[in-house]
Amino acid sequence: MVISEYESLVNRITSCVKCDLCKTRTNAVPGEGSLDSKIMFVGEAPGAREDEKGLPFVGAAGNVLSEMLKLIGLNRQQVYIANIIKCRPPDNRDPSPHEINQCWGYLDKQIDIIDPELIVTLGRHSFGNFFPGELISQARGKPRKWKGRTIFPVYHPAATLHNPRLKPVLAEDFRKMEALINSAQFDRGKTPANNSCETQLTFDFDSSHLPNIKANHDDKV
Ligand code: URA
Repeated sequence: MVISEYESLVNRITSCVKCDLCKTRTNAVPGEGSLDSKIMFVGEAPGAREDEKGLPFVGAAGNVLSEMLKLIGLNRQQVYIANIIKCRPPDNRDPSPHEINQCWGYLDKQIDIIDPELIVTLGRHSFGNFFPGELISQARGKPRKWKGRTIFPVYHPAATLHNPRLKPVLAEDFRKMEALINSAQFDRGKTPANNSCETQLTFDFDSSHLPNIKANHDDKV
């Protein structure tokens, strides 16, 4: 049997013992969704439900994510969903720099294999790993470039559970994301049917045409 590059990566993640999180996990959570998708969502780390199921965003925060995807006409099967950290930190504590360092290579490889044009960072931890030292409250809802890809930062879906006033803000950012996807005639998760995709898939965002919303929300999201 020939094991694909992706399967081999998943095997490495599920058998990883590079940090102590392997001692407390029930299941590692590599990621889920379409390997052909040009849109990747990156959260922080699995929670209790994710650890139980081995799947990303299947708890309460996942419900919010699914709702937001539905709002813009997408579903989970059309995108790829991953996390910075593949194993649950005990008591949902923040991942340590060492854990992030050990795990980052897996996300890097996922990005390499899936080759998304658009990476949506969910929450300040995810965003902070792509753009250290910046505030999510300033950055959210505005596309920017990272290694030739487009990063679109949004608040973490779980933040809306703690602070319901953030839900319309998250919805607004998803709407902006939808406009961005549509303006780029972006293929929604499927490999284009013909080879004329080169122009179609070229993302050359001019973020200046997007409304520049002034945000003043708590950065702990
Ligand atoms: N929060 C995350 O950041 N990732 C998950 O998979 C679930 C909740």
